[in-house]
Amino acid sequence: MEIGIDLGGTKTEGVLLDATGAETARQRRPTPQQQGYQAILENIASLVTDLEARSETRCSIGVAAPGALDNTGRVKNSNTQCLIGQPLLQDLETLLSRPVRLENDANCFTLAEAVDGAGQNAASVFGVIMGTGVGGGIVVNGELLPGLQHIAGEWGHNYLEQNGPLCYCGQHGCIETFLSGPGFSADYQRLGGDPTLSPQEIVADAGRQNATAQLALENLLERFGKALASVINILDPHVVVLGGGLSNIDCLYTEGAQRVAAHVFNASLDTPIRRNQHGDSAGVRGAAHLWHR
Ligand SMILES: [Zn+2]
Repeated sequence: MEIGIDLGGTKTEGVLLDATGAETARQRRPTPQQQGYQAILENIASLVTDLEARSETRCSIGVAAPGALDNTGRVKNSNTQCLIGQPLLQDLETLLSRPVRLENDANCFTLAEAVDGAGQNAASVFGVIMGTGVGGGIVVNGELLPGLQHIAGEWGHNYLEQNGPLCYCGQHGCIETFLSGPGFSADYQRLGGDPTLSPQEIVADAGRQNATAQLALENLLERFGKALASVINILDPHVVVLGGGLSNIDCLYTEGAQRVAAHVFNASLDTPIRRNQHGDSAGVRGAAHLWHR
């Protein structure tokens, strides 16, 4: 049986899957970020112990974590700051006395959707996260494509606009500064909109003919079109699956897809752009599936 752990900034979730991929147990706990790195490790270990007690066999363990490992095995590019520079995979293997597989959350999302979600049976899948941040992953023939530097699919830090907002990565105008939930809200605020509105509320206001909200949504669709078309021009995936909070914006799949079509290097856009099927469970499921093949 497979155990998947999704280590998030606020919560850590674990799932136990049987050989058919059916979920037999699930647990969720707060991530003890304030207590530091060692507490995070112990939290994962105790979650594994509890889940494994529900299985009659020793389980394989996959972990979805924010960020990626550098070529010395230490965490980089993580928004959970206390993980940065730590040999997370090595420490987990020591603590759990077995090999562990670890991938970033966007890669786990993509793998989950490729194995038995919205990208099932597709030869290649580009998985998109548009949530607190913007990330992505690539699965080809059922296998993750991590890349030489473990950054394959990280379209969120491709440059999109000159004079755009400063991104935490140090560049200005990254895709993430526009196509994330906070990026969308910030754009609405720059246009004069109410800074307290959530992305869903801005979209609802656009539907009620609020001109500022309509402009923010128009910007979002156009930027989505440009940004995703550049990915499709390079990868030409058989399916694109959207995840994260902004993936609930319905018009991304209609007007958004039309904007992609307008920018892609092809007479039409044949690429299906689909909503995810696993929702918030994609991270844990994908982590468990890291041992799938
Ligand atoms: Zn950036």
